Amino acid sequence: MKFQRIKGTRDIYGKEYEILMEFYQRAKKTMDKFGYSFIITPTFEDVNLFIHSTGETTDIVEKEMYVFEDKGGRKVALRPEGTPSVLRAILENDIEIPCKVAYFANMFRHEKPQKGRFREFYQLGVEYIGYIDPLVDFEMFLIIRELMDIFEVKNYYFEVNSMGCIDDRKRYKEELKNYLSEKLEVLCNDCKRRFQRNPLRILDCKIDAEKIKDFPRITEFLCDGCAEHFEKLKMYLNKNNIKFSINPKLVRGIDYYTKTVFEVKSGRLGAQDALGGGGRYDGLMKIIGGPDTPACGFAMGMERIMLASEYKLPYEKDLIFIVYTSPELKEKAYNLYLFLTKETLKCDIVLDTKSLKSQMRRANKKGAKYVVILGEEEEKMGGYKIKDMEKGEEKFIKKENLPDYFKNI
Ligand SMILES: [Zn+2]
Ligand SMILES: [Zn+2]
Repeated sequence: MKFQRIKGTRDIYGKEYEILMEFYQRAKKTMDKFGYSFIITPTFEDVNLFIHSTGETTDIVEKEMYVFEDKGGRKVALRPEGTPSVLRAILENDIEIPCKVAYFANMFRHEKPQKGRFREFYQLGVEYIGYIDPLVDFEMFLIIRELMDIFEVKNYYFEVNSMGCIDDRKRYKEELKNYLSEKLEVLCNDCKRRFQRNPLRILDCKIDAEKIKDFPRITEFLCDGCAEHFEKLKMYLNKNNIKFSINPKLVRGIDYYTKTVFEVKSGRLGAQDALGGGGRYDGLMKIIGGPDTPACGFAMGMERIMLASEYKLPYEKDLIFIVYTSPELKEKAYNLYLFLTKETLKCDIVLDTKSLKSQMRRANKKGAKYVVILGEEEEKMGGYKIKDMEKGEEKFIKKENLPDYFKNI
């Protein structure tokens, strides 16, 4: 019997794995510098955590969440995003607020699989909890700018909007509904349904975009506090040369956002152009049973980042391949391999003894920079032959000089 991956999932191996881990390590360094600590939360949570926070009428909860009953009869969900879990963890573990938290984790959404979009995917997430100050929002952009640098993503850009506070949104929703009610007849069926449950999401509709292009802008409905917050953020961004455009349609598909929302996009990705996004979520902590606490954060999809990145793995220049001219030398060769791994050099060896030629082929295929050859001749002379695969040069080296030889290159 043969098995296949579940649709929308994938295996990450080889170069892709190396790049993902490299990016993780680079991100970790950046987040350390900004004073964030990493957290690992469970892969699955009480389904209600997401229903209450992400929002019942969002696509994520309504259509995309993996929900199942465990053997204890609990209804659990594979996490579709990280923010609710992180807030839950902060409350449950009494982590002192203000706090800065980051995570690198797999998420699950039952979406239509397409380029750069999988049903299990990896996110880098960042949450800054405890301050209402627009400097916090600004810091998200600063961090993303640095991450784009270290991920070697070049042509990215920011889109920004403000969704105001709960009161602003209530007023705006009424106004938007008034406007849409006159067009409802001609809108698609999804939008007709959204009109009652979540009219803001009609702004996301690709089919009806043209028909509603003169929709009222939410930024016209901000209270003084929210307007000032938005102005300050824009000022910080301008002062620091962070380029952005205002996208009045940007309302993010998640209920908990307040004030600032933003996305970072790449010109390299076509329709699936969002690398990540986030915003402020001042009401969320209270919604999940905590104190009224402002917060701001973002998450980035690592699959998209890897598509947009120009980073290339360096040639495997450190790989040392050990070959031997006869089966009798295999154990000796293996001992040398073990010895070199203790020197923390990157080594490999073929164990199903084939001809020297086929071993060399294997070394070449693996991208080895050096091949150490154990032969009877060299054995008698107390050393090895070393071949530099790039230059094609060979030289003899005494056994005792081998570790130093590799240390010095
Ligand atoms: Zn407001
Ligand atoms: Zn529509």
